[in-house]
Amino acid sequence: MLSMMTLRRCIEILGPAKTPLKAPLEVLRRFMDQDLEPDPGGGGGMRITEGVAKDRRISVEDGDMRHGRKSKSKRIDGYKRHVATDLGSRAILACAVTPANQPEHEALPKLKSDIDAQSIRFSEFHFDRGYMGSPTVSELAEQGVVILCKPWKARNGDLFSKEKFDLDLRANTITCPGGETEPIEFGKSVQFSADACDSCPLRVKCTSAAKGSGRTVSIMEDERLQKRLRTIAKTKSGRELFRERIPVEHSLAHIGQRQGRRARYHSTRKNLYDLRRAASIQNLEIVQRNAA
Ligand code: SF4
Repeated sequence: MLSMMTLRRCIEILGPAKTPLKAPLEVLRRFMDQDLEPDPGGGGGMRITEGVAKDRRISVEDGDMRHGRKSKSKRIDGYKRHVATDLGSRAILACAVTPANQPEHEALPKLKSDIDAQSIRFSEFHFDRGYMGSPTVSELAEQGVVILCKPWKARNGDLFSKEKFDLDLRANTITCPGGETEPIEFGKSVQFSADACDSCPLRVKCTSAAKGSGRTVSIMEDERLQKRLRTIAKTKSGRELFRERIPVEHSLAHIGQRQGRRARYHSTRKNLYDLRRAASIQNLEIVQRNAA
């Protein structure tokens, strides 16, 4: 067996080699760089790196696969699938595949470009929250498309949540439950005056910051849209509107059953082909059902 040092030396010697060794050596070098670090115990040895390297490659054969998370407890190794579904016909109109470590919203421009290529125009889009971080959402809103998405619940433990503050998006100000008003900037946090917060009788219910620091509230880049969504979510009819998106989850579950849990191919491109193939079959089944 070769020691790590010897292996590194071999890679250095063979490094400039041309094909066919160049590509596998680069893969080997990447694995060593991302997963090994000098042993602080000395002796010139190496040890397994603590933590996970950014954009860590997880497969020798497939350079696109990555670790990702669906939630804090649910991990995914490989890819994420994304679909855009027409809520009327339930047909899948666009598909995207991304390495599992990419956030959902990075798939949205790909889905949108597939929809545009078919010259399809919508007046209303229902999104999963994960896609709301994409600039494409704001572009659609500016074009007059109605954006619908269950808003994030503002939480702050036992302390006042953001919903207790009055946001005036005409005057671009925020007023706290204690009556203090501050100007806001979209995409930035606003901090209330330390003097006001230090002497405020509501302080224990509002902030756990040390004396001398005022309460902060973050203002989203798309705060106007988020405020509209929070207002919709307060009504029964609004909540019913959000539930109209449920068929997309059914579509995803159905396609997941068809494709199985393992990626069929190596690379994002080939797995996108596989997802489109599965979506086409699903669409043909819809046509058949409707014709019966
Ligand atoms: S602690 Fe500060 S932000 Fe909170 S209610 Fe009092 S003055 Fe307003």
